[in-house]
Amino acid sequence: MNKKGNQVAYVRPGVDYVEALGSGTAGRKKIPTVWVTAKNGQKWEIPVDPKTGRVPNEYLFGRFLDINRGSRNGRERNILIDIWKEADMIHEIPDGGFTPQQLIETGWWQAVNESDIEGIDDTGARAFARELEDAAKSAQAQGMKMVLLMPDESQKRVRDIIARDFNASEVKKAVRNGGIIIKEGNPGRGAAGCYIPMQETSSLKTPVIILGKNWDEETLVHEFTHHLRHVDQTRGGLTRTPLKLNAGGERVSSRAYDRKEYNSAVNLEEAATVAESLVRIQAPSTGANGYYTATKVHGDTPMERYTHDRTTLVTDKPMRGRKAEKQVTGKFEDTSISHLGYYRPGSNAANYYKERKAKGTLPVPVKLVRKTKKTDATKGTVAGPVGATAAKSPNRRISRAKR
Ligand SMILES: [Zn+2]
Repeated sequence: MNKKGNQVAYVRPGVDYVEALGSGTAGRKKIPTVWVTAKNGQKWEIPVDPKTGRVPNEYLFGRFLDINRGSRNGRERNILIDIWKEADMIHEIPDGGFTPQQLIETGWWQAVNESDIEGIDDTGARAFARELEDAAKSAQAQGMKMVLLMPDESQKRVRDIIARDFNASEVKKAVRNGGIIIKEGNPGRGAAGCYIPMQETSSLKTPVIILGKNWDEETLVHEFTHHLRHVDQTRGGLTRTPLKLNAGGERVSSRAYDRKEYNSAVNLEEAATVAESLVRIQAPSTGANGYYTATKVHGDTPMERYTHDRTTLVTDKPMRGRKAEKQVTGKFEDTSISHLGYYRPGSNAANYYKERKAKGTLPVPVKLVRKTKKTDATKGTVAGPVGATAAKSPNRRISRAKR
């Protein structure tokens, strides 16, 4: 690699706009970024922690999991190959994290598959890269594309729930176009969790699910369902997000909408997600989902309406896969949540659904085309899947950032 190409010429500040799905206060956020211009003229935008000016590890994982960026030839990267292979160069994260300049000087951000960062994508990073042991065999390895930033106990719960409430095909589709970060944190006051999709206005393209304190099965299934509704192109109609996505599948900013149109679409996105979660979960939550305070029919209290919907949607046992999708589509109009009109001004979910159906503007399912084997894995040493026993590269070097 050309070391000179990584030398920094100058930097200037920038900003990312991030919009989350969730009823909490964390709806819209600005994340400061730093544009780093290398001596060869290439510019890179790197998000930073505003308090420290450093790059939080979460953003390094985010970059690593974004398979469509970070390879020198522009080819899609392969997350699993990267973890299993040991690069010739491994970078240590400095105390307090990389500054954007230091990060660009490593060359890792520009070409993620050509070197490793300790704990992020080296072979030791398999602490996070764990299989979904309880999923069907064909989907187990996909768990390694899900970075879980939370204590071990919570990680186990996440893996168990995903493996049980989603089928193999859904797990594969969830990480087909890059990984996902699931973390425990603050989803915003008033929300149990939130979903941050891949979006046009942010330089980081890896989706993030934030689970609040006391999250339960429904919280995770709800956010993971939002995710599938955004990334699974084979869904259509009610089970695909009615929100605008660009050709690359990135969420378009709410500023590109008429306000009423946006609120109506979010009402439908939330209502359909609540309904689908109720179809999937093994046990309803002890308290009604928060959106039931904003529905009226089928019961006098939120809990009655929530219980009404669960009974309507699950007559025998919970479902997943296409069965779950069909159930939601078939029963949606009988649910209380279909009347959700939480986001205002705008139409409630059922009316907006009817309107889009009548106009013929609901999302249309797309057939998946097989990915051509063009992924890039330019790295030093091939270690093979049993990386733990792999021989160390004789050329392996450790780099420490300059102070
Ligand atoms: Zn939601």
